[in-house]
Amino acid sequence: MRTGILGGTFDPIHIAHLHAGETALHQAELDRVLFIPAGDPWQKLGRRVSATEHRLEMVRLATAGVDGFRVDDRETTRDGLTYTVDTLATFPEDEELFLILGADAALRIPTWKRHQEVLDRATVLVVPRPGTDSTAVADILPDPVFLDMAVLEVSGTEIRAMVRNGSAFRFLVTNEVHRYISENNLYAEVGGADMVEGPTSMEEPS
Ligand code: ATP
Ligand code: MG
Repeated sequence: MRTGILGGTFDPIHIAHLHAGETALHQAELDRVLFIPAGDPWQKLGRRVSATEHRLEMVRLATAGVDGFRVDDRETTRDGLTYTVDTLATFPEDEELFLILGADAALRIPTWKRHQEVLDRATVLVVPRPGTDSTAVADILPDPVFLDMAVLEVSGTEIRAMVRNGSAFRFLVTNEVHRYISENNLYAEVGGADMVEGPTSMEEPS
């Protein structure tokens, strides 16, 4: 079994996450891609993050019915801070693991808890991200695999700001996620989220 792991806060999940997951599935010949939302305790380390139930549900809605895509709640059901090294340890030893990371997140791996064990256990698939020089990743990681895909300049931070400002964001997320954001009035509150920038899943504190 070749499993891709795409972790994040997914606040909200957007087209760049989905496009990265699908590209990884094909280019690395994975059997499946697990979308793993980060647990709540992360919010204590930085900006406030929407409730787990909302983030998990948006990931469910966005991935439902997509071949090879799965939602995985192993980080949201675990107590305390979740570190990638611990998450990887929950998989059977004979499962081949691939960490799908934006170039920004990949560059921070050296600051992660027991990062050498992470690199021994999983192959890193690097997703190009605007504003980050992907080639720099090759200087710090042993054997990164660079995904060849459209570079999408979109982020959760920008989408939350668009919702707050009443700007158009509909086609940056799936229809179901767009509807969920409206129906649950997410991100509308001024001064709600984004007061402080903080780490997200796969973006561990050092
Ligand atoms: P936020 O702005 O709230 O941090 P985000 O868009 O960065 O949201 P995350 O949930 O933090 O989304 O990211 C999860 C993973 O997806 C990370 O590895 C991140 O690098 C990657 N990622 C997110 N957006 C992009 C993008 N536009 N291009 C490439 N990778 C991305
Ligand atoms: Mg991020």
